[in-house]
Amino acid sequence: MSYKYSLEKGSKKYNCPQCRKKTFVRYIDKETDNYLDYKYGRCDRENKCKYHLNPYKDGLKINNTIKYYDSKPKNKVFIPNEILETTLKGYSDNTFINNLLGNFPVAKVEEVISMYYLGTITKDYMKGAITFPFIDINNNVRAIQVKQFDAENHTIKTSFLHSIIKNDLIRGKNTIPQWLKNYDQQDLKVSCLFGEHLLKLYPYHYIGLVEAPKTAIYNTLYLGSPKESNFIWLAVYNKSSLNFQKCKVLEDRKVVLFPDLSNNGDTFKEWETKAYEIQSKLKNATFKVSDLLEKTATEKQKEEGLDMADFFNLLL
Ligand SMILES: [Zn+2]
Repeated sequence: MSYKYSLEKGSKKYNCPQCRKKTFVRYIDKETDNYLDYKYGRCDRENKCKYHLNPYKDGLKINNTIKYYDSKPKNKVFIPNEILETTLKGYSDNTFINNLLGNFPVAKVEEVISMYYLGTITKDYMKGAITFPFIDINNNVRAIQVKQFDAENHTIKTSFLHSIIKNDLIRGKNTIPQWLKNYDQQDLKVSCLFGEHLLKLYPYHYIGLVEAPKTAIYNTLYLGSPKESNFIWLAVYNKSSLNFQKCKVLEDRKVVLFPDLSNNGDTFKEWETKAYEIQSKLKNATFKVSDLLEKTATEKQKEEGLDMADFFNLLL
């Protein structure tokens, strides 16, 4: 489990609220990439000053309803396109793709592969895993998630391509390229929606927003690609990363959110609250959370946390 709030990575220092020296590292919210209030941080003059105010020890509420954020200057570092290109192969060894081919026509599977730039890990311990690139509205690659699935397309292992590349280089005692050093210094890696690059291609389509890339892929296959339907399917990455920052690109759009099932409908309620908040801050956007799954699912299915893809797989 990683923490939502942590000390900022990298070498940026601020003036310490106690000793006034420029040795102060601030806490950031890793989900939004914003700073917490100035008082939260650690002075690096550990012997002389010892100032350290940890937001968790200070009793800061995890559900961040309080506004003590200021935004962090952003100079995003992206994953080079050449790295994305190296993943666009090896589909015959890709477990996820092979599972799709068992259920959908080849042409349709090829269509989702090229639409979302799905790829394959072709060597080492994640061999056969699928890559889900998070490409933003300006076609920058922000992150490449790597997932190993079983024969039922349920997740076995999860990683990120930049960590796999880095570990490989370290193991081989090779130097780490500058882009990767800079990229790794960033606290927030998955900083856009999965499928975001499709927004400009289909400016008038409705948006179906789900938790995981896998669900976006299945929904495209079950319900029709943007060429056949009025929907583009996007994913936030996971349930807790639905936030305003990521949804800014959905200005002027009609969005329907489909959270996975959960115990007592907790995720549904969480997303309903967030959707309302996001909509109120966005120009001309509507955010509605669908209760279709909540209404149809049995208690057991809710406990199991089924997503829309699981649901279709059961029905069809
Ligand atoms: Zn200090």
